[in-house]
Amino acid sequence: MDVIVIGGGLMGTSAAFFLARRGLRVTLVERNRVGTGATVASFGNIRRSGRYLPQLPLAHRSLAIWREAEKLLRRDVEFRKTGHIRLIFDADSRADMRKFATDARPWGLELEELTARELHARFPGLGPTAIGASWSPEDGCGNPRLICPAFAAAAAGLGAEILEDTEVLEITPTAAGFRLDTSRGPLAAGVVLNTAGAWGARIAARFGEEVPLTPKGPQMGVTEPLPHRILPVVGVWTRDASDGYFRQVERGNIVFGGGAGRVDVDLDPGHAKYDPARLPVQLRGLLRMLPALADVSVIRTWSGCEGYMRDMLPVMGPSGTTPGLFHAFGFCGHGFQLGPGVGDVMAELIATGATETPLQDFRIDRFRAAA
Ligand SMILES: Cc1cc2nc3c(=O)[nH]c(=O)nc-3n(C[C@H](O)[C@H](O)[C@H](O)COP(=O)(O)OP(=O)(O)OC[C@H]3O[C@@H](n4cnc5c(N)ncnc54)[C@H](O)[C@@H]3O)c2cc1C
Repeated sequence: MDVIVIGGGLMGTSAAFFLARRGLRVTLVERNRVGTGATVASFGNIRRSGRYLPQLPLAHRSLAIWREAEKLLRRDVEFRKTGHIRLIFDADSRADMRKFATDARPWGLELEELTARELHARFPGLGPTAIGASWSPEDGCGNPRLICPAFAAAAAGLGAEILEDTEVLEITPTAAGFRLDTSRGPLAAGVVLNTAGAWGARIAARFGEEVPLTPKGPQMGVTEPLPHRILPVVGVWTRDASDGYFRQVERGNIVFGGGAGRVDVDLDPGHAKYDPARLPVQLRGLLRMLPALADVSVIRTWSGCEGYMRDMLPVMGPSGTTPGLFHAFGFCGHGFQLGPGVGDVMAELIATGATETPLQDFRIDRFRAAA
């Protein structure tokens, strides 16, 4: 079977790798360079806490691949099991955290609760006004710059063809599958996998599958390098917009995001911008988490174009209208953790026609059913 994968972000490159590993002939088509869409802009958080519960089987499957990524891809993609801590500043958020921890246990996620005393003893300097925290020791982070090139190179090593600087312009169903007109000429395959990220809904719409996707840009920044002191990824449980997060990379810089909403992005050309007017509020949130950053310089800010679905769940699975077409897009700002698992599951689904990882809630026709 021939498969064409449209879009070389984390979903597309990991799918190309797992498809090739299953012995399928794969061509991945990326209009820029692999990994230069939402993926490279990502914060790099490999977090399971706070997820939609029926998504946890996919998240666990993905975490298992992250753990093996260096062996699998023969490159260090800087997956580190740092643990993930989420600070709690008020009683409502603590109630939310406890409910999530109880509900998530049957789904295989163990969250520990830290009291204020335990938090401050174990992580001095973090959230001095916090009343507690959750602690997820198995979670961590990875390097968003390294993961797509690593998956693409490993896929190429297994025989996949990686076409960069090639845009898919038209897709036409044929008797044998699909014809794709690209900026570098035609391609044909029996199966097409749509992993075009924030642009994925446009591809689905060509097949009569309209979905409510809005492109948005989360706001990110990074400080000058500091001595390395903070191992875990740090976030906040909150009901309001103060949902900031940060981590210290091994080179010492503090990468931070959240706490300032997301900017609108025009899909043409899809360049998400950082809005400097949001920096003060973002920094106030950061200082609440780590006051020691008060005199530290921010050296760069950025954003990235990500697709957000109306219900904040991705689209994954076979097309509802077109045999041979599959979708995996719209990861709503939390696809970095899921990416390796998404590629593995989509490859399984395409190669075998089924997967044990539940995808029912992510099917593309759910919006039609709700209308
Ligand atoms: C700023 C930011 C921070 C984030 N932080 C986190 C985080 O900490 N943890 C987490 O889990 N998730 C995070 N996310 C979300 C995560 O990065 C994304 O969900 C994930 O990277 C999406 O991968 P993708 O492959 O679907 O999309 P992309 O990486 O955007 O890849 C899609 C690709 O398709 C290509 N394409 C589109 N149309 C065509 C066409 N017609 N022809 C050829 N190619 C095409 C694009 O050029 C692009 O490269 C963050 C996202 C952003 C933007």
